Amino acid sequence: MSYRVLARKYRPRTFAEVIGQDHIMTALSRAIEKERLGQAYLLVGPRGVGKTSTARIIAKSLNCTTGPTVTPCLECHACKEIEVGADMDVVEIDGASNNGVDDVRAIRDRVHTRPLRDRSKVYIIDEVQRLSGPAFDALLKTLEEPPGHVIFLFATTDPHKIPDTITSRCQTFEFRRLREEDVFSKLQQVCELEKVSVDKDVLFAISSGCRGGLRDAESMLDQLLAVAEGEPTLDDLEMVAGLARPERWLDLFEAVERNDAPEILKSVEAFLSRGGTEHELVGQATDFIRDLLHLALLGEDSLGVQPAEDRRERMMNLARALGRDRMEALMGMLFTLESRIRQAPLAARALMEWTLLRAARLQELLGVGELMKSMESGQAPTSMNTVAPSAPAPAPPSAPAPPSAPAVPAPTSPPPAAEKEEAPSDSEPTITIESLLELACQRQPTLGQVLQARFLRGELTESGVEISIGELQERDVLMLEDPVTLKFLENLPGSPGPWKIQIEKPEIQEDPLGDQLRDLFGGREEVP
Ligand SMILES: [Zn+2]
Repeated sequence: MSYRVLARKYRPRTFAEVIGQDHIMTALSRAIEKERLGQAYLLVGPRGVGKTSTARIIAKSLNCTTGPTVTPCLECHACKEIEVGADMDVVEIDGASNNGVDDVRAIRDRVHTRPLRDRSKVYIIDEVQRLSGPAFDALLKTLEEPPGHVIFLFATTDPHKIPDTITSRCQTFEFRRLREEDVFSKLQQVCELEKVSVDKDVLFAISSGCRGGLRDAESMLDQLLAVAEGEPTLDDLEMVAGLARPERWLDLFEAVERNDAPEILKSVEAFLSRGGTEHELVGQATDFIRDLLHLALLGEDSLGVQPAEDRRERMMNLARALGRDRMEALMGMLFTLESRIRQAPLAARALMEWTLLRAARLQELLGVGELMKSMESGQAPTSMNTVAPSAPAPAPPSAPAPPSAPAVPAPTSPPPAAEKEEAPSDSEPTITIESLLELACQRQPTLGQVLQARFLRGELTESGVEISIGELQERDVLMLEDPVTLKFLENLPGSPGPWKIQIEKPEIQEDPLGDQLRDLFGGREEVP
């Protein structure tokens, strides 16, 4: 008997077996029961959450000999053939490799003939966003007036790349990422059916590392079982899936917390040398900080974060030492890092090390938030309950503005976060934008010089600083968008609050000769 990968072997075969997408399954079941299924559906969602499986289940529901039914028998020819992709009337097309206009024309030509055996002809187009423009045009003609016996099921990870003319003719279902506990229980089930024993910790690591994609989780388990000698361990997982064991993140961020630069660089090296990529490192590090925030803010109620007892203790200690401000700022830095790596993949490692080293110095740049104080006193501030579990704010909260601050505040009322360092006593008593820029220059010369050199105009308001600056190089733009930079500026002694920096585009140069030529030849200007 040939080996079937777990993801295929245990793919859901009925609506009841699809996990974590109840909203869609209910709607589809009702439509089938009432025989009111539409003719075109767009199944949208991340990879590996059940889109194609759902499409096949719809096909079975329609074509099962006992159907149309929401509980296909799984025994008849139609059910069996659809299951393995061999039914003549259920056509599965991979949009990535059959994306030309001819492929779609071939569908169009066959659509009008009756099904060979089944009740309905079902066209499942996976990755439909990969179709070419002309192919979409050809598809549109078919979608405008499909024959009654045809249903189209399009699956996509990227709906924005599909023309509106197509999406407007489809009913859309949005698939969600799966929750960790759902993935965990499915993996447990698979292990039972496979009669293999895998440690809970390993299953937890997989379910949090798969980022809501069940197929990814199942193939990690597959690889793990293939290589492990005896019961698989976290070490095995690290080796096969590039998924760092949770302790590694504790080691790394404890080093960040105590500003231990050598240890940070060693951690990065260790991760990469075990085969992980920079991209994976950023993703997993972000997830770890998110877990940390959840633990700190929700405590026992933290959803889906269930570390083993000894690790939980270490995580709580780390969360306490970092404090909410730093954790939120860290998350912001990791998000920024992700997009920077996308822009400059060759510099990925340097960018990552730079970001982590900067993160280690956050303490010098940030004030420690209210949360930390309250955590030390063992009390949760009431505002913590308002943090939504699934969407922690990436930006650090701004320091509270001084109540009814004058337009030009005196240096004696800096935001609380900057209390440690007073403004030099010999400086001018009146705060101006120029004096703030000068101060920025003394403390962070690179940043200060860019701001001073490009400064156009600005305004101090009661709640913050708004300045406009001239055009900048890309790396300087990134520096100014960095949450650490903004927090640094906000915390400058005398700064009334957050800084809003507007970067102005250069004006278009006057071109008298061009104007003359245009007039002479009756041309018009091409706007790029
Ligand atoms: Zn059947």
